[in-house]
Amino acid sequence: MTELMGKLALVTGGSRGIGAAVAIALASRGADVAITYNSSPEDAAGVVKQIEVAGRRGFAIEADAADAGAVTAAVARAYEVLGGLDVLVNNAGVGAVGMIGDVTVEELDRVLAVNVRGLYVAAQAAAGLLADGGRMIHIGSCIADRNTGPGMSLYAMSKAAVVGMNKGLARDLGARGITSNVVQPGPIDTSMNPADGPFAATQRSYLALDRFGTVEDVAAAVLYLAGPGGSYVTGTELSVDGGHAA
Ligand code: NDP
Repeated sequence: MTELMGKLALVTGGSRGIGAAVAIALASRGADVAITYNSSPEDAAGVVKQIEVAGRRGFAIEADAADAGAVTAAVARAYEVLGGLDVLVNNAGVGAVGMIGDVTVEELDRVLAVNVRGLYVAAQAAAGLLADGGRMIHIGSCIADRNTGPGMSLYAMSKAAVVGMNKGLARDLGARGITSNVVQPGPIDTSMNPADGPFAATQRSYLALDRFGTVEDVAAAVLYLAGPGGSYVTGTELSVDGGHAA
């Protein structure tokens, strides 16, 4: 349980859902963890408390992923306060559902700003600060591999972009021993996609395993990629999707 002892990590969108579970899991293995949040300061404070209960340093930074300046400043602040950076988990993201004819330019810009540009800017800011041998882990989606129904073109595009970015990052950073990978969750029970929501049964019907995943299922994959066992894994996608792509 101490494979990340002394590591320094930043998790974007760490106030709720998958990001919160990842931050707490990293702390449980010995990492000090900074998180960013946008609209949930109280949830972010609760996550910081849990990081501290695990015996690690934690702090929260307000930074809208759609605001490039705020993202760059958050990465720099995490580096400064933690005293370095070993792991970036690019998790902040928003859902989007809409038929191609209904998606507005404003929705298009907002989703790409958070789900794509926000990750790129965070990766760019972290690239110069990460220690040699560091890790980047981006939270994509199984939707990048396979769309099972209508209305997902915008969200799927945003998550497919993460796959392309990741391969480029792996090449750019490999000489320093820094790995970059995407975790692609299937349906995970969070407020973005509740396991008892109106679309839950339909989503389950596409899986090999007849259940939604938990945030801990995703955090376990992040721990693997951040830990010693993941040191020779880079430029790839790790699906944690209950068999969505099977
Ligand atoms: P939640 O809605 O439960 O949590 C989203 C998190 O991202 C919150 O901490 C939220 O912070 C943060 N966030 C959202 N918008 C911004 C923003 N503009 N700037 C900074 N932070 C932001 O979602 P999940 O935990 O379910 O999703 C996390 C990631 O996993 C996303 O990238 C999502 O696309 C991906 N994913 C989720 C799946 C699922 O089924 N749940 C499946 C596949 C992928 P705050 O509340 O402070 O705004």
